[in-house]
Amino acid sequence: MEELLARFLKRDRAALAKMISLVEDRAPESTAVLDRLYPKTGNALKIGVTGPPGVGKSTLVGCLAAELHKRGTTVGIIAVDPTSAFSGGAILGDRVRMGDIASSDGVFVRSMATRGSMGGLAIATQDAAELMDAYGFDWVFLETVGVGQLELDVADSTDITLVVLMPSSGDSVQAMKAGLMEIGDIFVVNKADRQGAELMMDDLSMMFELTVSDEADRPPVVKTVATKNEGVGYLLGSIQQIADALTANGTIAGRRKERIRKRIAAIVEEEMLRGFWERKDLGSRVEHVTDEVLEGHTTPFAAARRILEDVRG
Ligand code: GDP
Repeated sequence: MEELLARFLKRDRAALAKMISLVEDRAPESTAVLDRLYPKTGNALKIGVTGPPGVGKSTLVGCLAAELHKRGTTVGIIAVDPTSAFSGGAILGDRVRMGDIASSDGVFVRSMATRGSMGGLAIATQDAAELMDAYGFDWVFLETVGVGQLELDVADSTDITLVVLMPSSGDSVQAMKAGLMEIGDIFVVNKADRQGAELMMDDLSMMFELTVSDEADRPPVVKTVATKNEGVGYLLGSIQQIADALTANGTIAGRRKERIRKRIAAIVEEEMLRGFWERKDLGSRVEHVTDEVLEGHTTPFAAARRILEDVRG
């Protein structure tokens, strides 16, 4: 591990990749690695990018990275793909459409899939973002598909969140249902070369007028055509502006604090559960009292209390 750390600190990309694999596998060494590198984190701007499949998130993140690269800003990208657990990860390679900048020094792209629970993936993703932060990337993008709890968890682990939509009937309704409206700091209508883009921008703006009373708090709505690299510079400007505003009013600091609090709680939980069921034959005792409950001798509550008293005692 010392050797791996030394290589990481010398900014060896292979070492970064290896460490991300360790956190992805939730390997025991990953904790030690993160522990050592944590003091180096806290400098990157972490941006979540979410939205329904097919709206152009990957294309857009590629454009943003290329533009940042041109400006001398280094970029780490994590594409989270919860579905590849079922498809065996076959589509991973295609997730981020980056062209040739992906292999340049200032840009690093990594896909992550779930090997266990979604909750595990959210933590692994957050840890991978910390690694990229420690490695020294200025901006770190976390790209997720807007399909459920996972992106809400991932949004929790970023400083700001971009919600990407495209003109199509029902897209904004779907986003609302998925809870994306609450987590977005910036809304992007991509595929603005398609019909209905203006209408959708108006819809979104009107919705924020109705739901967010203070004009200053309404998220910007920006249109892009990722495939033609249109609107990307403007979007970058909006991201920077929002990041500055949310830094100035303490929102980003508050989110970071909340993130640390949750991470500590998650580590405590994980450690408490480690080996818990092997302790004092708990598994077989649960088995035993289950029969007692079935036979009407006790209740699940009383049985659980007895076991817990014994564990604590
Ligand atoms: P993701 O699933 O949200 O990451 O979407 P992708 O980036 O994979 O894009 C899905 C498809 O939409 C691809 O075929 C892209 O080439 C296409 N696409 C992306 N952006 C635009 C755009 O602005 N206009 C049009 N017409 N197509 C786009």
